[in-house]
Amino acid sequence: ALRQADAFRRRLHNTLEDLRGSIRVFCRMRPLSQREKDLKNTDVSQLVDSMTVELQRPAVGSFPNEPDQFNFDAVFKPGTQAEVFDTCKDLVQSAIDGYNVAMFAYGQTGAGKTYTMYGGKGDGEGTAPRTIAELYRLLKQEEDRVQFTIMASMMELYRNELVDLLTQKGGPKRKSQTPGSATVEQKLNVRTDQNGAVQIEHLSEEECKTAQALSDLLERGNQMRTVCATKMNSESSRSHLILTIRVVGVNKQTGQKLSGKILLCDLAGSERLKKSDVSGEAQKEAIEINKSLTALGDVMEALVKGSAHVPYKNHKLTQVMSDALGGTSKTLMFVNCSPASSNFEETLMTLKFATRAKNITNDVKRKMIAKGKSMPKA
Ligand code: ADP
Ligand code: MG
Repeated sequence: ALRQADAFRRRLHNTLEDLRGSIRVFCRMRPLSQREKDLKNTDVSQLVDSMTVELQRPAVGSFPNEPDQFNFDAVFKPGTQAEVFDTCKDLVQSAIDGYNVAMFAYGQTGAGKTYTMYGGKGDGEGTAPRTIAELYRLLKQEEDRVQFTIMASMMELYRNELVDLLTQKGGPKRKSQTPGSATVEQKLNVRTDQNGAVQIEHLSEEECKTAQALSDLLERGNQMRTVCATKMNSESSRSHLILTIRVVGVNKQTGQKLSGKILLCDLAGSERLKKSDVSGEAQKEAIEINKSLTALGDVMEALVKGSAHVPYKNHKLTQVMSDALGGTSKTLMFVNCSPASSNFEETLMTLKFATRAKNITNDVKRKMIAKGKSMPKA
């Protein structure tokens, strides 16, 4: 009876989740850094309520500007790592229940994406380590009933090429430097099967029997990201980092199989090209990042609009994420912002990018209600 009640509770939970909408957007304002304070930067953001943030355009002379308001599913200024995770940890249960989940951080370099996704030690731990802890905690609760297998992979997308961060396979123009490592033949091509499930050729996956094993894998991947960036004479903030955790559960009595996954992405910095980077590699990098983030924005917009065509194919980033965005998947976008007056323009761009998804959601809801009244759904 207890188990039935539990199953019912979960079904109810997921129904409520679906009603809330499958795309959630959280805004997070990091604190001013010491350096920004030293440079006499002011904080141009203000928390209006737990879902609204205001951005004050710096005054020109003695003329103050009207602040702009932005609405999200949640706003943290900056909130603790525990508070942020508390608002999204139900997505871990969703993955166990067989849903595909994507959690990603968008924002300019230095806005707090890596802090939000990975963070530091102890209380400073971010979304990924907390997701791991929560995942294995939940699995333990069900281990009598369900046999779980956790598989993880980690890759980065740099200049439109995927790199396996566990084996260093793939990557732009890197033939095997060390025996057994990257060769051109081992390009990590993205394929989708007839069910729309994403498969990445040659990407290695490792089984992680414990939370510790998965944490170690994460650590290894993150170190490799830095190594790769240095080799490419770039910075790790110029690539998209994608950690995929696959959760497969087989019911020990019925043999019923459920398979879900969690995609955790620390996206490349969204800042616009600096005037000093008008040519060379930095420019190529910036153009590719811009293309990928634009493609992501277009996909999100199509999803919240309910468009018949979702342009997943426009970029490798959206191809890789396609089975975790839209459909029955659950998506959480963290919009990381700097509150510093010197970053005002970038923060405004970031918030506008994000509300493109949110504002439309509201419209869709309203439209659907209006539609439902006049004509029943076919
Ligand atoms: P990004 O990954 O977007 O480039 P980081 O996550 O590296 O940015 O954050 C830049 C700096 O700001 C780091 O020193 C980080 O520790 C700090 N920081 C970011 N968000 C927070 C926060 N919520 N609270 C405290 N410090 C933060
Ligand atoms: Mg970062």
